Amino acid sequence: MKLLDGKICAASLVSEISKKVTGYVASGLRKPHMTVILVGEHAPSESYVKSKIKSCESAGFESDLLRFSENVMEAELLARIAEINADPATDGVIVQLPLPKHINQQHIINAIDPEKDIDGFHPTNFGRMTLGQKAFRPATAYGICKLLQFYEIPVKAKHCVVIGRSNIVGKPISIMLSNDFEIGNATVTLAHIETPRELLLDETRRADIIVVAVGIPGFITEDMVKEGAVVIDVGINRLENGKLVGDVDFENVSKKCSWITPVPGGVGRMTVAALMINTLMAYQNNFDLI
Ligand code: NAP
Repeated sequence: MKLLDGKICAASLVSEISKKVTGYVASGLRKPHMTVILVGEHAPSESYVKSKIKSCESAGFESDLLRFSENVMEAELLARIAEINADPATDGVIVQLPLPKHINQQHIINAIDPEKDIDGFHPTNFGRMTLGQKAFRPATAYGICKLLQFYEIPVKAKHCVVIGRSNIVGKPISIMLSNDFEIGNATVTLAHIETPRELLLDETRRADIIVVAVGIPGFITEDMVKEGAVVIDVGINRLENGKLVGDVDFENVSKKCSWITPVPGGVGRMTVAALMINTLMAYQNNFDLI
């Protein structure tokens, strides 16, 4: 078994980005700029936001963090997003999810200018991505593709099983792996909570690549995986003892895999790296650099 190491891959991608930024700044341009909106005091969100800001520093980007209280009204957030949309000094904006229940998440996502939507969640970007057009691709799914590419894992003509159909992970990765992208052209099965257990087992046991994003520790067990499979664990789950684990029984499944992502240090790192790629693209679009 070999590790698909998100730390190594992300560091390499961020280093490439940083070199490009150094060149742009040397030519007289300002630095790329990411704005992060954080609502409330959700501990995992605090930690994700911290790593995004830190990665901005490594990439040579400017960033700012706008904090709002848990009780902020949807209208206030929408007004702030409108200001950011109109601000030429910001290339990309992310609203850290989840949002408090009284705020309609889709209203907020839809309010972001698609040209600044570096998370790739706006319907315009999701639609463009689905159609194979130039788009900001949803960061976790894009990060997974970049990781597979970095380790030269063959995807074309392979059988992939994606478990979980959320709009932010499962659905986009299933589309990207099946589309005619640079990392794609696989035959993809998308499983979800209504997939009968026997069907799920049939599919995962034949799969060359399994991507799991359900949020259930130990969901993928050794008996569900064929010898030599590639396993991508998107899950991030905090156990009662404080340990961070994915959706895969890593200890036992890893013995059967050819490649597997660790948690932490796998897909999470790649999500942040993909955000940096998307922010650079937004900046390059702004300055007609591509
Ligand atoms: P989500 O919105 O809760 O979606 C979970 C998906 O799993 C849903 O589609 C659900 O089906 C499906 N599901 C739940 N139980 C299932 C079961 N027993 N069998 C088959 N499918 C089942 O979660 P998410 O936002 O996609 O996140 C999933 C996990 O990834 C979480 O642990 C999250 O923390 C993590 N995550 C990690 C990153 C990263 O950067 N590494 C980024 C985002 C999320 P239904 O649609 O029918 O409900």
